[in-house]
Amino acid sequence: MQVTNLWNNKREPTISFELFPARNDKTAEKLEKVIEELKNLKPDFVSVTFGAGGSTREGSYQLVDKLINEKKGLEVVAYFAGYGLGPDDIVSVLNGYRDLGVETILVVRGDAPGEAEGFKPHPGSFPNASDMLSFISDRYEFCLGAAGYPEGHIEAKDDAKDLEYLKLKVKSGALYIIANYCYDNHYFFDFVKRCRKIGISVPILPGIMPIYSIKMMEMLAGLCGATITTEIRRELAKLPPDDKQALENFGIDFATKQCRELVKAGVPGLHFYTMNRSKSTVEIVNRLRNEGLIE
Ligand SMILES: Cc1cc2nc3c(=O)[nH]c(=O)nc-3n(C[C@H](O)[C@H](O)[C@H](O)COP(=O)(O)OP(=O)(O)OC[C@H]3O[C@@H](n4cnc5c(N)ncnc54)[C@H](O)[C@@H]3O)c2cc1C
Repeated sequence: MQVTNLWNNKREPTISFELFPARNDKTAEKLEKVIEELKNLKPDFVSVTFGAGGSTREGSYQLVDKLINEKKGLEVVAYFAGYGLGPDDIVSVLNGYRDLGVETILVVRGDAPGEAEGFKPHPGSFPNASDMLSFISDRYEFCLGAAGYPEGHIEAKDDAKDLEYLKLKVKSGALYIIANYCYDNHYFFDFVKRCRKIGISVPILPGIMPIYSIKMMEMLAGLCGATITTEIRRELAKLPPDDKQALENFGIDFATKQCRELVKAGVPGLHFYTMNRSKSTVEIVNRLRNEGLIE
């Protein structure tokens, strides 16, 4: 499936879920259940992350294979993080995906893999996602996409330049953009407006990250630069301390509210960062369906 066809043909927003490969047998067993629960929601597609430097190369391939060949009926978008990989590695990973029947790839640069100490980037590796996109679009028929950052990429010193680099990713072959999550929709709406103003016209999918735990929220926001708003901090402070259920419920209510506003604003879809968990996403999607906001 070329993912952009969905947005060309579908009037309702699409629903999609991001997954990552399990790290061990225990998480693999849990992921199996999560996939079944998410599959029951009949998403338009699921996506699979890729560890920069090839750190999850095998696991990502196996998960994509499983989703396509075992879990029939799921459309898969494979991510590719090219950090540190030379042209031959890129071709070998992408040939593998192509041969599995993958038609859509999200190309990101990735970051230096923390765990792989001593990892040496290939001398012929590409410095930015736009270079990888050019290399891939010259050689493959994939429907390619790129990552966007409503609050700016964490390394970017200049918002306008960051957006120009996003435009370069589109020029280099990205036909759609999946946005990093934010906890205040105004960042996303403003980002889309700024993109349109400089001529980026491809579909831009907002990312939804339900709050699963305070520790995870702080850790991920620190890594990607998402603002934890004063509203969130104020509401979290009202919850009984250490009450996981209350926190999960708050996360569901908050993300549902965000999704309602996004859908009403006419976004092409809702892309959920599931963190390989299903409960919050299932609840949010069911609520939106019960309200008739999504199909
Ligand atoms: C939807 C989504 C999915 C993701 N999936 C993965 C994944 O599967 N695996 C993974 O490891 N990571 C993933 N990431 C994280 C991503 O790899 C990091 O955010 C990474 O730091 C940047 O990737 P990029 O593709 O945006 O890089 P780039 O577009 O290359 O940008 C990186 C930085 O360089 C700057 N820049 C870009 N082009 C140029 C240029 N030509 N000259 C100078 N500076 C430039 C940008 O402003 C930015 O600050 C994902 C992120 C998102 C939003």
